[in-house]
Amino acid sequence: MSELDKDVAVIEVHSPASGDLVGTVPVTTPDDVAAAVRELRLYQPEWEAIGPAGRKQWLLKMQDWLIDNTEHLAAVLQSETAKPRVDAIIDPAFAVDILGYYARRAGKFLADEHPSPHSPLARVKTLTVAYRPYPVVGVITPWNFPLAMPAIDVFPALAAGAAVILKPSEVTPLSAVELARGWAEIGAPPVFKVVTGAGATGAAVVENADYIQFTGSTATGRKIAAACVERMVPYSLELGGKDPAIVLADADVDRAAHGIAFGGMFNAGQVCISVERVYVEAPVYDEFVTKLTAAVAALRQGADDRESKNDVGALANENQALIVQRHVDEAVAAGARVTTGGKRTGVGTFFEPTVLVDVDHSMSCVAEETFGPTLPVMKVADEAEAIRMANDSIYGLSASVWTGDKARGERVARQLNTGAVNINDVFSNLFNPAMPMGGWGLSGVGARWGGASGLRKYCRAQAMTKPKL
Ligand code: ADP
Repeated sequence: MSELDKDVAVIEVHSPASGDLVGTVPVTTPDDVAAAVRELRLYQPEWEAIGPAGRKQWLLKMQDWLIDNTEHLAAVLQSETAKPRVDAIIDPAFAVDILGYYARRAGKFLADEHPSPHSPLARVKTLTVAYRPYPVVGVITPWNFPLAMPAIDVFPALAAGAAVILKPSEVTPLSAVELARGWAEIGAPPVFKVVTGAGATGAAVVENADYIQFTGSTATGRKIAAACVERMVPYSLELGGKDPAIVLADADVDRAAHGIAFGGMFNAGQVCISVERVYVEAPVYDEFVTKLTAAVAALRQGADDRESKNDVGALANENQALIVQRHVDEAVAAGARVTTGGKRTGVGTFFEPTVLVDVDHSMSCVAEETFGPTLPVMKVADEAEAIRMANDSIYGLSASVWTGDKARGERVARQLNTGAVNINDVFSNLFNPAMPMGGWGLSGVGARWGGASGLRKYCRAQAMTKPKL
């Protein structure tokens, strides 16, 4: 946003680890966005007409391209995010999964339906429901997974027969540009374009496309929803989260400590479904805090190029580092204790993996989305209190329950107001493209990612009747 406000023509992309310039992208003007959408409209009917089987060939070619170019893609992604190499590989791997899943299932998800109501009408008419794509889908994505976030929306939309205009984050646009290069390189029809820039470029996408899929902050999502309502175009929003983890007294405390350390620290906590607060039943609280602190303190931090020797990388930008520092400082000033971490380290935007205790819901580190490597831990008297505290949030994205009793875990899960719950694990639902994924409350609005809904949301139902005789 800031770049465009300054009316610049080019966005510089810097490594968050070193500050080095790693690339530049042009700022696509609103007029150019409108022209790009007009061009996509020209090619979309043919793309729709070749049907799921015709599109499958291109999507599987793109999948091969991603696999063949994984090393290069991971290097580009690392340059703009400073993720450890093992984490950078996750993005292309995720994109490959999404492509395979939707390329193979689009035919099934788009198949005509023939309702047969218990009605006299059914005697004289054949009823058909056809699923037809919105012509141009606009996808706006954040910086935390520069390839995976575009993939989860772009590929199902293309599989549905829509054309797609993608506006990646101005913080990490280089990976998305590679995606467009790949689409051109395999010789696929020109129904996928990437435009680069900040908020004004994104706003132009919202002004021109026929369906808007946005992933990012709740504040920006609210603005986009308002603009969509003004134009009367449909949208779905994947927004922030403040995911709770509940550790019950019968849990395997070692597993819970390691799982929650991973859930809180993976990608330096910059995942919408990161664990952001932990509630522990009193009998195992001390043991859990000791084990979590040890697990988090043992994480290796840094960004490396070729070897996978680090666990936690840098934060995406200076702004993110300032938010994390503020949440920790405010908590400490209000009486919280840091058991490990707590400050910035090295050059760039590295923040130490941090565990906080003696925290409560009045503190920003518990109430607001941190999107950083912090795990605030609270003691609860029992299961009921844990559920009540977990549900005391404006967000409702995902949660985890840690227990030795799976039936109990499921009972607790069914009382949590979140779009996803994992029992004795984190992230599992997102690693499965068949599972619908999306937030409740201020974490999301509209259709979900994954499964049939992740593709059908890009379609309009067309109800047809024809005479039987
Ligand atoms: P963050 O600031 O945490 O990156 P945002 O929600 O602001 O998260 O940004 C997510 C995406 O939305 C980015 O691609 C950004 O450029 C884009 N964006 C920001 N403001 C607007 C807007 N007013 N309209 C459309 N897109 C926007």
